[in-house]
Amino acid sequence: MTVSDIFASMALGPAPESPTIANQWLESHARHFGLYINGTWHQPSDASTFESINPANGQRLATITQARPSDVDAAVAAATAAQPAWAALSGHTRARFLYAIARHIQKHSRLFAVLETLDNGKPIRESRDIDIPLVIRHFYHHAGWAQLRDSEFAGYQPVGVCGQIIPWNFPLLMLAWKIAPALAAGNTVVLKPAEWTSLTALLFAEVCSAVNLPAGVVNIVTGDGQVGSLLANHPGIHKVAFTGSTAVGRTLRTQLAGSGKALSLELGGKSPFIVHGDADLDAAVEGVVDAVWFNQGQVCCAGTRLLLDERIAEPFIGRLMRRMHTLRVGDPLDKTTDMGAIVAERQLTRIRTLVEQGVAEGALCYQSDAPLPGSGFFYPPTLLTNVAPAATVAQEEIFGPVIVSMTYRTPSEAVALANNTRYGLAASVWSQNVDFTHDIAKQLKAGVVWINSTNQFDAAAGFGGYRESGFGREGGREGMVEYLVATSTPSTPPTPSFAVPTDTAMGSIPSIDRTPKLYIGGKQVRPDSGYSRNITTPQGMPLAEVGDGNRKDIRNAVEAARAVASSWANTTAHNRAQILYYIGENMYARAHDFTLLVAAQHGISMQDAASEVEASIQCWFAAAAWADKYDGMVHHTPQRAVVMALPEAIGVTGIVAPDAPSLLGSVALIAPAIAMGNPVVVVASETAPLSLLELYQVFDTSDVPAGVINIVTGTRANLVKPLAEHADVDNLWIVGEQPLHLLGETASASNLKRTWCLDERWLNMPFHEFLRHAVQWKNVWVPFGA
Ligand code: NDP
Repeated sequence: MTVSDIFASMALGPAPESPTIANQWLESHARHFGLYINGTWHQPSDASTFESINPANGQRLATITQARPSDVDAAVAAATAAQPAWAALSGHTRARFLYAIARHIQKHSRLFAVLETLDNGKPIRESRDIDIPLVIRHFYHHAGWAQLRDSEFAGYQPVGVCGQIIPWNFPLLMLAWKIAPALAAGNTVVLKPAEWTSLTALLFAEVCSAVNLPAGVVNIVTGDGQVGSLLANHPGIHKVAFTGSTAVGRTLRTQLAGSGKALSLELGGKSPFIVHGDADLDAAVEGVVDAVWFNQGQVCCAGTRLLLDERIAEPFIGRLMRRMHTLRVGDPLDKTTDMGAIVAERQLTRIRTLVEQGVAEGALCYQSDAPLPGSGFFYPPTLLTNVAPAATVAQEEIFGPVIVSMTYRTPSEAVALANNTRYGLAASVWSQNVDFTHDIAKQLKAGVVWINSTNQFDAAAGFGGYRESGFGREGGREGMVEYLVATSTPSTPPTPSFAVPTDTAMGSIPSIDRTPKLYIGGKQVRPDSGYSRNITTPQGMPLAEVGDGNRKDIRNAVEAARAVASSWANTTAHNRAQILYYIGENMYARAHDFTLLVAAQHGISMQDAASEVEASIQCWFAAAAWADKYDGMVHHTPQRAVVMALPEAIGVTGIVAPDAPSLLGSVALIAPAIAMGNPVVVVASETAPLSLLELYQVFDTSDVPAGVINIVTGTRANLVKPLAEHADVDNLWIVGEQPLHLLGETASASNLKRTWCLDERWLNMPFHEFLRHAVQWKNVWVPFGA
């Protein structure tokens, strides 16, 4: 083939992903896996086994153990023994574990993605770009909930030991949806992956060991549905969380009735995909591709019932058919593949049988002519038209790459058709008319409604069904509540327990011969004045010299902050959280250095200094936790409208930090301000700025964009006025005495910037209060209805 041939056809060449590292990992276990119980691998010699098959070629990947009743007993016993100590850890400590899990998966993300694709048959493009990133996001997000559990869920306690049963369509993602909130809340778990797709759960077990998760907190037992049943019905289990078919969900509901066990069920669906006459048809066609051919249609919330406005039905079907021919079906490990293999032969047979039944009941079957591989379990993209609302294929979950289409004439008919199902998991509405979309969204019986989009998931947003799609939510605050129970008396938050190294043997503090500069625009810069100030211990012993900043330094710092303000505000909350966690992590690695500095500057004991450092690290974690959780609201007004209240960053925030505690006092202000998207200009403690200045190195190694944090040292009386007067400062926080407040607030009147003046009691304030002062609210009104 020549280059001009390629230009003519625009065909993509093969782009295979290598399975080598995944195969090496399988070989390192001799392709034989036992059970992960109490932090170690168990290989019961007399247990039966089954094989995990690569559905793309039918080859054996590994042999897996079928857990026996005694193994389930052992796993539940391990989780039971571990639970009280796990729950007694501070939220912060649990957050550190969840964070470490997220980091670890991130570091090995390609291995996870390739292994998932080998085991499940999904295209590598999806496992690499959707499944695994969402898994990581889930653990990060729930590290935040662990951190905040005591304050945000005061009066609640963990449920206890959770039995979790997951399906094969998103093996690792479903594991993350189950394990992350359970652990964040203080529960321990025994998880059973699906028989066809256990491998990434077993790799995950290794991650638990690698991050030193206490033994018994996570246990993985493999096996078939019997193992799931044993687990759910085990008397030591307090909560069952299940994702899978409605039939098994119903069985579990019956079996657990009256047992007192908590139960959440995320079951099947037959979700409507409504395309109105005024929709962007090309976008909606792409929407169908994402709705039903993503993951070969093996998605519980797939939009498999296409409901078309009669006015556009014909042209829409024409475009959809043309698009179907461009979908590439084949080797899941090829990066250009759109649709991979069906998970197993049994599932392929089920799809074939249901499509045949649909045709027998009168449907017209249209399939893409994409060539299918000779071996493995593949099925082409399929569209069934001429389908009656009561037809089997319009009512039964097919769980394959098959969509059925019907037409409607009026919006109310669209709603009636959409709701004509026993399910209620999700729905998708396509129209350029915002009134229409919201009006329909309100009338749909579904747990999730996507407007002009489909299959959107995030750890911060609750997911779950209405009706026979189950109950309970996964994700967001509502998902956390599923793993907690109310106590009769509110519990007091436990004290933080992670260890900060302290050096009690140190009698005298060595002098530190350093000249830290100002920190502006991500660089260390000399002060404009060319003068330095001495910093000493309270006893007068010299510690260091720092720059004596002036109004020009303030001006430069504000300029640097202004330059980054819009991009920082628009950085996703998730990314801001990542950076904040990273600062905390890097600060922890240097906790001893900070402890020395704090002790020296304030003349306090190493132990007290260590506590201040520890509290500062916790502040970074708390701010990271809140970054993607300080949510908007929807207000109820008498009008027919959705009023969305959205918190937005205020802008460049000037911070006048206290003299003491100098490190914690600065971090407690900087962390929430930047978490909410505001760059800061900090006037450091006048007498004890060294520990804050030492943070330069932490910021530089933690991906903090230049200009987000700027620090100026010097005499406060000289620096507060130019900061407060500056027209490019939008928000000003001052900790100090009344004269400083007077000075700052008077000067701030120039551009009527917001001010927040804090006295010595400020450190006792709830963290929420800092977040409140770091945002401004925008109310967006979206009217709906006729
Ligand atoms: P199941 O509901 O049987 O499987 C889900 C999980 O439950 C698996 O881990 C399974 O183990 C386990 N399980 C099976 N029986 C029991 C039981 N009696 N008690 C406790 N746990 C049990 O789904 P299938 O894999 O059989 O798929 C059948 C159909 O279910 C699909 O065609 C699809 O329509 C639907 N489905 C829906 C999903 C969703 O997300 N809503 C996900 C998967 C399937 P094992 O894997 O060993 O059978």
